[in-house]
Amino acid sequence: MALTYEEWPGVEWVEGAGDYITIDPAKCDGCGNCTRVCLAKCFKITKKKAKVVNLDCCMECGACWYVCTPDAISFSWPPGGTGFRTLWG
Ligand code: SF4
Ligand code: SF4
Repeated sequence: MALTYEEWPGVEWVEGAGDYITIDPAKCDGCGNCTRVCLAKCFKITKKKAKVVNLDCCMECGACWYVCTPDAISFSWPPGGTGFRTLWG
């Protein structure tokens, strides 16, 4: 469940973003970098493969994509008006 504006003033998570982060299991080597870097706890490792648990609190920082050396993570910005946004843009 995403946090709300009242819980974290200045930011909000908007539903309807879809699966804008996906993992190719054939490329994932289970290193766990994505789980360590993601402050929103969007990933978990199951049977030595990463899975997206949920993106409800994803901040679209791109850190997971950046640290995935086998290039297993596909990242694309959510459609406008969905995902994560702040008062500042
Ligand atoms: S960083 Fe990439 S290779 Fe490592 S566990 Fe996550 S998805 Fe798999
Ligand atoms: S973009 Fe950032 S917050 Fe979203 S899943 Fe990746 S590391 Fe986590």
